[in-house]
Amino acid sequence: GMPALPPPTLAPRRKTRQIKVGSVLVGGDAPVSVQSMTTTPTNDVNKTLQQIAELTAAGCDIVRVACPRQEDADALAEIAQHSQIPVIADIHFQPGYVFAAIEAGCAAVRVNPGNIRKFDDQVKQIAQAAKDHGTSLRIGVNAGSLDKRLLEKYGKATPEALVESAVWEASLFEEHDFHDFKISVKHNDPVVMVQAYEMLAERGDWPLHLGVTEAGPAFQGTIKSSVAFGALLSKGIGDTIRVSLSAPPVEEVKVGLQILQSLNLRERKLEIVSCPSCGRAQVDVYTLAEQVTAGLEGMEVPLRVAVMGCVVNGPGEAREADLGVASGNGKGQIFVKGEVIKTVPESAIVETLIEEAMRIAEQMGET
Ligand code: SF4
Repeated sequence: GMPALPPPTLAPRRKTRQIKVGSVLVGGDAPVSVQSMTTTPTNDVNKTLQQIAELTAAGCDIVRVACPRQEDADALAEIAQHSQIPVIADIHFQPGYVFAAIEAGCAAVRVNPGNIRKFDDQVKQIAQAAKDHGTSLRIGVNAGSLDKRLLEKYGKATPEALVESAVWEASLFEEHDFHDFKISVKHNDPVVMVQAYEMLAERGDWPLHLGVTEAGPAFQGTIKSSVAFGALLSKGIGDTIRVSLSAPPVEEVKVGLQILQSLNLRERKLEIVSCPSCGRAQVDVYTLAEQVTAGLEGMEVPLRVAVMGCVVNGPGEAREADLGVASGNGKGQIFVKGEVIKTVPESAIVETLIEEAMRIAEQMGET
């Protein structure tokens, strides 16, 4: 038959220059990638690799590790070698660690040439080493560490200040004919952040790494990041994303993937279409939806599962989904691809849905 059309997105991707972060392409027509950052002490190689394995399993594409001390720099080679996904070393001031990270085989280094220049101008040598090793870089402009000169000029970290800083930092690499870098201009205020990225996107074709910095605990951070990334991605701006949460990094990856899936920038996997419940509900929809979600966690196939509280909208939604239940009268009508395949007592709804989901997943060729 005809190949299925890809699902629609809100805007075409902005054309950016493509760079390589190890095996992952960033920019151009590459899919928007999801990043996170480890929270373990980097020099604890086993713990760090363990966390990277968890992030990889959650669907993380690229991982960043902090490198504040010599012992962290010393651990990078082993981490880069054993990580299943590309590793980015995060370095603030020390050019020595940048060279160490490049030689250790890190896929990329986050480093601001402005900081490097202030202490010991080795920007040219860094650009050369990165070129020689095929390492890409990220310029990470951050409201919290904005240059004094710009803070004085603009009074605070305005979008203009962030963009001026980014464009200046970029020029420090570009004057050495180095172009394999992406840029971020992070701020904790989604409005400032969105304006900064929009302005930056007008100024050049650099691939952009999106982030709302210090976004906060899981609930607030999820919303801030979703709103900000949604505003930008819906205009085609953004090539790789990192959701920052004061929560375990696996949560960041889950949120990042869900944002991309919501915008059809990633294939939707398991999707639970559950009703909010209302006075008509004849079952406990919250518990049912939670139990079905928990039972199907980690499903790798695109599957829409409808969990509906009553027979008003229930059968309609359940029919549209791959699999669904519409409840009423202490029973659940189980739908598969629009057909009622059976009616089960309320107590058997969850296990029946999970069984059927597994069966459909197997037919799709994966479990
Ligand atoms: Fe209410 Fe039924 Fe709609 Fe759920 S499906 S919100 S219970 S009307």
